[in-house]
This record gives sequence, C-alpha cells and structure tokens, in this order.
Amino acid sequence: MSIFDNTDNPVWVQGKLLASYPQLAPRARRGTVADVTVIGTPVLHRSLTPVTEFGTPELRQLIDDMFVTMYVAQGVGLAANQIGVDSRVFVFDCPDDDGNRFVGHIINPEITVIGEAVVTDNEGCLSVPGPSASVTRPAAAAVAGYDETGEPITIDGTGYFARCLAHETDHLNGTLYVDHLADKTRAAVLREMEKTKSEVFAERAARAARINTVSS
Ligand code: ZN
Repeated sequence: MSIFDNTDNPVWVQGKLLASYPQLAPRARRGTVADVTVIGTPVLHRSLTPVTEFGTPELRQLIDDMFVTMYVAQGVGLAANQIGVDSRVFVFDCPDDDGNRFVGHIINPEITVIGEAVVTDNEGCLSVPGPSASVTRPAAAAVAGYDETGEPITIDGTGYFARCLAHETDHLNGTLYVDHLADKTRAAVLREMEKTKSEVFAERAARAARINTVSS
C-alpha cells in the first residue's frame, strides 16, 4: 500500500469533509522538495506580496512544492517564504485536539480570532529547526482567503489547528513564533537551534531521498 492510497479516515480537505483520503495529499507527488529557509533569511522577516494571478501553472506548482516540502520536513503547515517565495500562500495538513485532520492551502488569508479563549502550549517552526517553546494563541480562529483557482474559501479550526492557522498567517506577515517570546527565552531557543539544526537537516535529507523513491 502506498502513502498516496486512500485510507478510511475522514479528512477535511479545503473545508469539505471527505470520507477517505490518503496519508499524504496526492498533489505532493507532483512537487519538488525545496530547502526550508532558516530564521535570519530576509524573506522570512517581511510582509509578503499578495497573489494577484490565480489558476496559473506557477501557482499550482508552488503549492505542490510546498506540500511535499512540508511532508519531508514533518511539519503541519508551511508558508511560501519558508521555501523562499514572496507570496501570501500557506499549506497545512494538521490535526485539531479532537482527532479531526485538515488538509489544504489558502491564498491571501485574513485571520479572525473566534471568541476570547486562549491556549498556551508548546510550538515549534520548520524555519527554527529543533527547539520549541510555549506560545499563547487563540483557542479558535478562522482564515478567509482564496484557493488556487481564485474561489473564496474560509477555513476554521480550534486547538492545535487554530494554533497552526495563527502561526502560518504570522509567517505571511514576516513574524516567527520566536518573535512572541521574551528576549531571554528567544535567545535560549536560538542557541538550542544552533546545536540541533545539522541533525534536523540530515533527517530531512534522508526523508527527501525516500519520498522521491515512493512517489516516482
Ligand atoms: Zn513556522
């Protein structure tokens, strides 16, 4: 059985509930694995450019590349600047706290916090390879934007998935989770990253080699 075969677990794909779905989004098969940019790379630290042309092969390819790169890096979300692209796009394949799985992409998203409840929990980032730290996020949030064809779409989530939506929207505005930390904590996180990042990069390279084998 391939990781691209359907399984019987229901999955929310682009906001619609599907009865069965593969372990990995099928479009990842068309993607090329990219290197994930690391904190300090300028494109991670500025507000990104809105997408104005929809339905193009370039936009489709960008999303395919982002999916396969996210899987290889074992992330639950990835923003375009994390593969060095200045476009307001993110992808996700993320669970919430109730066992639901959400897969999709969104373009030019605007985030709305739902309710006043917040959750403080551990959070990491593929662009800060290795460590994690406690960050307070909304317990529920919605993002409204467009899909790759230019159709309006709204995705909402709670718990860990709301955290993902907030984290990825932050990326499009040039904000990393470490920017929410106190200076001392931030410095400790970056010191830990320096110690662990080469090991993380080696693991990603090994998974990239494997996924190229299974998807060909
Ligand atoms: Zn991140």
